Amino acid sequence: MPSHHDEEEDKPCRACSDFKSWAKSQKKGVPKTNEPAPPKPNKECPLDKEELGNSTWGFLHTMASYYPEKPTKAQSDDMAKFFNIFSQFYPCEPCALDFQNDIKTHPPKTKTRDELAKWLCERHNTVNVKLGKPKFDCSKVHERWKDGWLDGSCD
Ligand code: FAD
Repeated sequence: MPSHHDEEEDKPCRACSDFKSWAKSQKKGVPKTNEPAPPKPNKECPLDKEELGNSTWGFLHTMASYYPEKPTKAQSDDMAKFFNIFSQFYPCEPCALDFQNDIKTHPPKTKTRDELAKWLCERHNTVNVKLGKPKFDCSKVHERWKDGWLDGSCD
């Protein structure tokens, strides 16, 4: 994926890159073959694309799993708006553009908790497939994000 830049500051976009590529892009000159690996991210530093993605999916899936089982019409409309607005402001531009396109063809399903959780799981799977990652079994989404695994490993 090409490296994206912060329009205002003309710096490489850290939230659009994995940390290693971002760290490399900060270095001047041609890297030597025996150069030590770039440093690991520190905890109190800006998020790279992986950290941002991982935290964001955690929030979104948790929100979906705690969404009302039977939302009011207003809640349902607001949740659909939330995802449309979220897709405009997600701070990794190439990720956001693909997500906007994906939700144009698959608009948010917000009529029940189960419907929302499944819809979001499928959106995440679309990204997983794009990145060559395995698909998640969407029948287990509440186990992963709300109740804990049936084998008791989260108790
Ligand atoms: P993540 O994919 O972040 O998943 C976190 C955890 O969620 C997993 O450990 C698993 O337990 C669980 N999980 C996995 N799949 C599902 C699912 N389908 N449903 C429910 N739970 C699941 N990165 C890019 O490089 N390019 C992109 O275009 C891109 N677009 C993104 C768009 C959005 C909206 C978001 C939020 C992130 C995007 N990312 C993108 C980041 C990418 O999806 C990952 O978050 C990142 O690569 C880190 O992956 P991870 O291995 O930590 O697991």
